[in-house]
Amino acid sequence: MKIPRVAMLELDAATRSRCFEEVNLGLSPQDAATEAMRCIECANPGCTTGCPVGVHIKEVVALICAGNFLGAAARMREDNVLPAVTGRVCPQESQCEGRCVVGKKGQPVAIGNLERFIADYELKSGRLGLPAIAPATGRSVAIVGSGPAGLAAAGDLIQKGHRVRVFEALHELGGVLVYGIPEFRLPKSIVRCEIDNLSRMGVEFETNVVVGKSVTLDELMIDEGYNAVFVATGAGLPSFLGVPGEHFNGVYSANEFLTRVNLMRAYLADEYDQPVYDCRDREVVVVGGGNTAMDAARTARRLGARAVSLVYRRSQAEMPARAEEVRHARQEGIEFRMLTSPIEFLGDARGWLTAARCVRMELGAPDASGRRSPVKIDGSEHTLPAQVAIIGVGATANPLIQSTTPDLKTNARNYIVADPETMRTSKRGVFAGGDIVTGGATVILAMGAGRKAAASIHAFLATNVW
Ligand code: FAD
Ligand code: SF4
Repeated sequence: MKIPRVAMLELDAATRSRCFEEVNLGLSPQDAATEAMRCIECANPGCTTGCPVGVHIKEVVALICAGNFLGAAARMREDNVLPAVTGRVCPQESQCEGRCVVGKKGQPVAIGNLERFIADYELKSGRLGLPAIAPATGRSVAIVGSGPAGLAAAGDLIQKGHRVRVFEALHELGGVLVYGIPEFRLPKSIVRCEIDNLSRMGVEFETNVVVGKSVTLDELMIDEGYNAVFVATGAGLPSFLGVPGEHFNGVYSANEFLTRVNLMRAYLADEYDQPVYDCRDREVVVVGGGNTAMDAARTARRLGARAVSLVYRRSQAEMPARAEEVRHARQEGIEFRMLTSPIEFLGDARGWLTAARCVRMELGAPDASGRRSPVKIDGSEHTLPAQVAIIGVGATANPLIQSTTPDLKTNARNYIVADPETMRTSKRGVFAGGDIVTGGATVILAMGAGRKAAASIHAFLATNVW
């Protein structure tokens, strides 16, 4: 308990706000071993109950303590097929670390940093402990969507001996991990390595297939003979504010802005023509308080924006973004304008954005989400000059499969209805999970849903006569 939490080195804010290099620099083996010694090996470890996929953290940390880093990575992979990803992006403060007993009297064990360390160590060593694959069952499963839910399900199903093919609409695999989360938080090479491991295990991938358009669910099952389908298409349809002026040139959804930068490589400005409105020396207003808004603000900064203001209608205490993202964004000079909301965007005669008109808010009574509702303060209107505005106020269900599969039950917001334990949908042989069922959530929750679906699909394949 006397050992202080080992801090992870970071690129300094001035350097990193001008480039897309990864911000967090990882732990050394010595630092990892020291941090692991802070674990007091609880009889009833809260860390595991706080982890949505139930990683046996105490055992993993004990292996790190013993210097068996590859053993620790192998133990981790039994419950979490994307440890290099989750070690970087999980909101540990509200999950494993939030329940760590050591945190009651000081700072919790840095479980996320340790997870990242062993995953990176394993990747660098090239000695990846791929799990055993059961003999072929002769059954095949189609997975629609290559985000964390689809990848987690693919990893579990291939181990059971089923043929697994993942269909992805975009030209790159990884879902939000590649098109949403920027390079400086999650390098694409890391996601690529994890996907390559799944390929080595036998998972087949096919990109540029828009299921619901190129091929329907029924065609996959009847014509192509898949015995089951897992729909993991995510919630990527951006929401807007619905205020006047959102049509002006220079106003983006965060989804489009980040996709253009990440997937179309605007972050490699020297090698690719900028497929995004030039932010250099411009004023940018980003609307929202989640990871998406924070990523958009930090990306605009790196693209050379003169000033980036983050406008959020509640206070920092209510912001859903990860604490680390908020800290990093502040260090990088993002100006936080809390309790502020845009009511209109203004533009010039040629249709280009010139400013955002905003109002100040105060917090009233709690709403259905339990958070205090923002209430407009009369007479608080003011104008923020802006040539770029990025709206990061959430996203809704990707709609295509629902619209072409009439017997697939959806709820009022067009999310697919699936049993929370079995992930079964209203359509026989079709399972669904991740953001397309829950709405925008987290990487680890999507992976948890993928694993539940895999277990349920395996049982379905074993108990049905074909
Ligand atoms: P997705 O990751 O959305 O993947 C769905 C995939 O399905 C996509 O690749 C899509 O192209 C594909 N698809 C859609 N329709 C079709 C179709 N018809 N046919 C074929 N393929 C299709 N969570 C965290 O835990 N930590 C973070 O730091 C974090 N940061 C985030 C930052 C941003 C910018 C965003 C947008 C989200 C962030 N999240 C974060 C949330 C997290 O990324 C998501 O909850 C998670 O990716 C959901 O996984 P999924 O597999 O359900 O869907
Ligand atoms: Fe170790 Fe914290 Fe987990 Fe206890 S709760 S086993 S101290 S990591």
